[in-house]
Amino acid sequence: MTVQGVKRRGLMLVLSSPSGAGKTTLVKRLLGDDPDSFFMSVSLTTRTPRPGEVDGRDYKFVEKARFVAMRDNGELLEWAEVFGNFYGTERQQVESAVKQGHDVLFDIDWQGARQLAESMPQDLVRVFVLPPSGKALAARLHTRNEDAPEVVAKRMAKAADEISHWPEYDYVLINDDIETCFSGLKAIIAAERLRRERQVGLSAFVREIESEL
Ligand code: 5GP
Repeated sequence: MTVQGVKRRGLMLVLSSPSGAGKTTLVKRLLGDDPDSFFMSVSLTTRTPRPGEVDGRDYKFVEKARFVAMRDNGELLEWAEVFGNFYGTERQQVESAVKQGHDVLFDIDWQGARQLAESMPQDLVRVFVLPPSGKALAARLHTRNEDAPEVVAKRMAKAADEISHWPEYDYVLINDDIETCFSGLKAIIAAERLRRERQVGLSAFVREIESEL
């Protein structure tokens, strides 16, 4: 929350990648590595839970009517439709976390990243994760057997679409070796936490230094 005792605003870290590029592993590592440092933003979705998914942990599973009501009420910071399902981020929890100096991690797609860039640009850090090759990604999508073949085919098309948005991100990591990739991610976070604009307590801190000189 603070860098050497200086108050700072939290950052909003968006991690996007095509499905199968290892983003979920990175997210888990990041949350496990330093559980106090990141809040995971739990998205709303209208899709049905997959086996093993827990309501409130992986997603908040809601009816379409409820989602639409929340969206039309301005309660969502961003939202998108993916494969006919709605996904979105609740505004209130993110705004208050960032204000209190908590970093928030988002596992959302490029559509969401674009909307966050419009609504909270100073707080946003966008990281895109690329696979080492198209072949490696295709192999990953085939070995994930939780989905039907037609779903896999759809995911391949979606992956190509998702990848085309890499230039809209601040940082790009190539996930060839997970350790190297994770180190890169940690370096980005360490640097971004030190950004002057985020360290809202700096003026007071520097005034104190000056008063002692
Ligand atoms: P899945 O159904 O496989 O969990 O997610 C499908 C896609 O929706 C992924 O690309 C994921 O990043 C994206 N997604 C998940 N939650 C959100 C959200 O809150 N907002 C947006 N814009 N995309 C999301």
